[in-house]
Amino acid sequence: MDGRTLGCGAVAAVTTVRHPISLARLVMEKTRHVLLAGDGAEKFADEMQVERVENRWFDTDKQRAAWEKARAAQAESGATNGRGYADTGATNGRGYADHYGTVGCVCLDSHGNLAAGTSTGGLTNKKYGRVGDSPIVGAGTYADNATCAVSCTGTGEQFIRHAVAYDISARLAYLKQPLNEAVSDVLRKRLNPGDGGIIAVGADGTIVMDYSTGGMARAAADASGRREVAIGSSKP
Ligand code: ASP
Repeated sequence: MDGRTLGCGAVAAVTTVRHPISLARLVMEKTRHVLLAGDGAEKFADEMQVERVENRWFDTDKQRAAWEKARAAQAESGATNGRGYADTGATNGRGYADHYGTVGCVCLDSHGNLAAGTSTGGLTNKKYGRVGDSPIVGAGTYADNATCAVSCTGTGEQFIRHAVAYDISARLAYLKQPLNEAVSDVLRKRLNPGDGGIIAVGADGTIVMDYSTGGMARAAADASGRREVAIGSSKP
């Protein structure tokens, strides 16, 4: 999403596109639409000649093991986690996942333009056809030069329900909340513990990386020389 124009593009349920955000950007730039899904998105990828890979290219031993574990756990309990779906394989015993696999990016350029992008494989052991929050503008991703750029990770259904990315932008616009407070309030007062994490950058350059899970792999850099990488639970 381009915070200067509120232009946005997204793709969902693609299985052979190596870099989904590149295709999403083409949806934004070359079509009058915002979201293409499934076969239509793959057909658009054919037309745009973006890089394609066999679906098995995305397989990793770690993710396969997590999927098999989640499937076995579901078969054993005969159910999901009570919220109607199974979380990722990495549950922490309290019924929710410690780490999700989404990759998000937010940035502010020297002209004051904000942008956000989010890419994910979704939740482990999700139901066929399920679309999470990442490609839903206003839920998992949002950018507006007037406020902030936001990218989310976590239980997508919760982020859609609470329109999380837009809510953070709206809190800045209407409540004049500082970005760190807006992010914290959404994570702790709107969402449930363990629902996920949020990265955001404000129009003034404030960087926020916050989460209610056991940890979140994250990194930040700015023009003043800040360089930061953190994994796990040590808060920035
Ligand atoms: N938010 C993603 C989804 O619900 C999952 C993730 O963050 O790993 O699809």
